[in-house]
Amino acid sequence: MTTAPHFTSAASLPTQSTYQSRVAEYWNAEENPVNLELGKIDDLYHHHYGIGPADNSVLDEPDPTRRNDRITAELHRLEHAQANCLADHLGPLTATDRAFDAGCGRGGGSVVAHLRYGCQTDGVTISAKQADFANAQAAKRGIDGQVRYHHRNMLDTGLPTGAFGASWNNESTMYVELELLFAEHARLLRRGGRYVVITGCYNDSYGRASREVSLINAHYICDIHPRSEYFRAMARNRLVPVHVEDLTEAALPYWELRKQADHLVTGIEDTFLTAYKNGSFQYLMIVADRV
Ligand code: SAH
Repeated sequence: MTTAPHFTSAASLPTQSTYQSRVAEYWNAEENPVNLELGKIDDLYHHHYGIGPADNSVLDEPDPTRRNDRITAELHRLEHAQANCLADHLGPLTATDRAFDAGCGRGGGSVVAHLRYGCQTDGVTISAKQADFANAQAAKRGIDGQVRYHHRNMLDTGLPTGAFGASWNNESTMYVELELLFAEHARLLRRGGRYVVITGCYNDSYGRASREVSLINAHYICDIHPRSEYFRAMARNRLVPVHVEDLTEAALPYWELRKQADHLVTGIEDTFLTAYKNGSFQYLMIVADRV
């Protein structure tokens, strides 16, 4: 029997979903002082929250300009402590190792990891503007040979399989499907490699997401996952949790201080504090091994 060749034309596929385009637009346009003014202090740009005890004496500073500067510096110190806490759990890495920073923002986390371990890092963000900014910062530091940023989707990075000794998400998992994300981490990590995530998640032992969690989702155009989803998706993707830490208590001083920083507030501060305090929302670190 002969059959006539039958060709189906490929459907045209958008390079990214409408949702992902909206997220990219958000981060391309984002210029919040709480992200830029803090980073300017030492060119470490973090777009995540802080942890640890705060020095609230900065609020008593009588000179208004100096007061603002001191509050800014204190919030930056707390954010940097969070980045260090994540980096602490990536090791041991050496200068020959590569690390992958998924949803890298303006790049601070990759620089922290590189300065700590000497490792090479690849950061990926869906915002072209952030990737350009972060690459310019790395060049300015003279580390652009080892610290690189890419405008790509973290679910489909095109980076080489099994080439990474460590990888992480710092407050960027709420933008993607965890199954797809962890599959990509499992692909990129070598066996025995280390994965770390710090994230807000909702406490699904208490049921569905609370009103505060929904408000946070609307504020950032994200979709906060329930806690159990992390462990389920890890188990299905060869990621075995070896350390789980509830950072909720440690995050409160940062939010209490930020709430009083009139020059930096974004309007979401009270919502975070209520969500953390009523137990519906948890700031969690999960450290996992790729087996
Ligand atoms: N991890 C950084 C930034 C956190 S902000 C830090 O700690 O400073 C969230 C980041 O996730 C933004 O950079 C945003 O561009 C990125 N992001 C969201 N969805 C993404 C996707 N699908 N692929 C790559 N990056 C994404």
